[in-house]
Amino acid sequence: MKTYGNYIGGEWREPGTSGTFSVVNPATGETVAEVASATADDIRDSIDRAEAAMADWAAMPAIERSHILRRAAAIMMGRVDELAEILTREQGKPLAQAKGEIAYGCGFIDWFAEEGRRAYGTTIPASVPDKRIVVVKQPIGISVAITPWNFPSVQLLRKLGAALAAGCPMIAKPAELTPLSSLEIARAFDEAGLPKGVFSVVCAAEPYEFTDIIMADPRVRAVSFTGSTEVGKLLMRRGADHVKKVSLELGGQAPTIVFEDADLDVVVAETMASKFRNMGQTCVSVNRIYVHESIIDELATRMQLAMSQLEVGDGLHPNSTVGPLVEPAAVEKVERHVADAIAKGARVLQGGKRASGTDLKSDQFFEPTLLVGVDESMQVMQEETFGPVAPLVPFSDEKDVVARANGTPYGLSAYLFTRDINRAIRVTEALEFGTIGVNDSTFSAVQAPFGGFKESGLGREGGFLGLDEFMEYKFISIGNVR
Ligand code: NAD
Repeated sequence: MKTYGNYIGGEWREPGTSGTFSVVNPATGETVAEVASATADDIRDSIDRAEAAMADWAAMPAIERSHILRRAAAIMMGRVDELAEILTREQGKPLAQAKGEIAYGCGFIDWFAEEGRRAYGTTIPASVPDKRIVVVKQPIGISVAITPWNFPSVQLLRKLGAALAAGCPMIAKPAELTPLSSLEIARAFDEAGLPKGVFSVVCAAEPYEFTDIIMADPRVRAVSFTGSTEVGKLLMRRGADHVKKVSLELGGQAPTIVFEDADLDVVVAETMASKFRNMGQTCVSVNRIYVHESIIDELATRMQLAMSQLEVGDGLHPNSTVGPLVEPAAVEKVERHVADAIAKGARVLQGGKRASGTDLKSDQFFEPTLLVGVDESMQVMQEETFGPVAPLVPFSDEKDVVARANGTPYGLSAYLFTRDINRAIRVTEALEFGTIGVNDSTFSAVQAPFGGFKESGLGREGGFLGLDEFMEYKFISIGNVR
């Protein structure tokens, strides 16, 4: 079994006084690797080394930074099979999805390699003669990425590509359940020739010491966080002391609205893909499926058929389409939500309990579950289930269903299905969400800005806005010297 050190200032550091922690395969319960838990000195060193590397990295021509980024992406794609296996072992998702995640993440690196070359400034006409108003974009400084366990590769690559292309050093702290993908990313960037200190990966069994140190250090100027709304709020409060730029990609409670004129073949295909990708453990996962009352029975029958064809199993097995949930607490939450729905009158059409079988080596598998007779009083409608549970809820009126869809503190993503273009425009404009799919629930794209409204986040990742999270705009007024 492998032991990973932390990657600090371009060097692999052996476990120190904080020892190591275990990474466990959720499909089998077996320990996959031991990882060094960073000491306070390790964390402080990562900031010192970033500071030392910052000026040269910012001054390097964007095209040279671009070459390094592209080389790293090519190295990762060259070993995509190996990286996908590591990802599946630490996180559980089926291998094909792990490969897709790595390719998607490398797509962000390629995208930002080019965006960094287009970090254009502006000149603006002045109000007096002989003056010039110039606006330039400059790297914000040392940046930090804190990432969750559900997409251990792409969540970091999306932040890292933007930060490095903008000219910022980055220190990454991966989720304690899934640090291996981040450490493998460090290996690829190291091989690609990234200057020492520009990127560090600091792993820890507990996040608190890392947070205390980086939030108290005024040299850290940007913190890009993906994870729960609760922790996002905490980081925003802690960032206030030094007015850090805090970018947040937080939780969701995504609604889908299926109108009576929807193409049900498209609804089933898209909803299945969104709901069961990563076992439902995605922030954009369809959580509340509002279906017009005239078609709800037909959609339930079709969904049930599609769900019965899913294959629950170890993600490393080529036939598996639904892997294990990431940890025991995740399965317990799904069980709680399903039990609460049943107690309040919902009916289970498919699944409803932990999956078991001779091939399943842990009790963290949950059957793809279809609930009908659901209403807003149930937990499945109030908070992220983060599991393979699809609740169908009837509606009859457009205005009413839009209000119900908006009736949440979250605003990450929403979906609607209709053939009526006027309704599609009306409803998308009324929905209070940062990302909306129309007849589409699988909208991941490196070239589009992704992010949430309300308590789902601040800032945008990817696309033409992604670089801005790591840049300052500087307004320079040039007067006339006689
Ligand atoms: P989490 O907030 O518990 O953990 C995310 C990261 O924050 C981890 O690295 C963790 O170590 C760290 N962390 C936890 N407590 C911390 C603290 N007190 N101080 C500093 N860091 C701390 O979230 P999770 O359970 O790993 O991930 C699931 C959540 O992430 C869900 O709510 C999901 O919706 C959200 N998510 C959002 C997006 C998005 O793009 N909006 C994407 C994926 C996941």
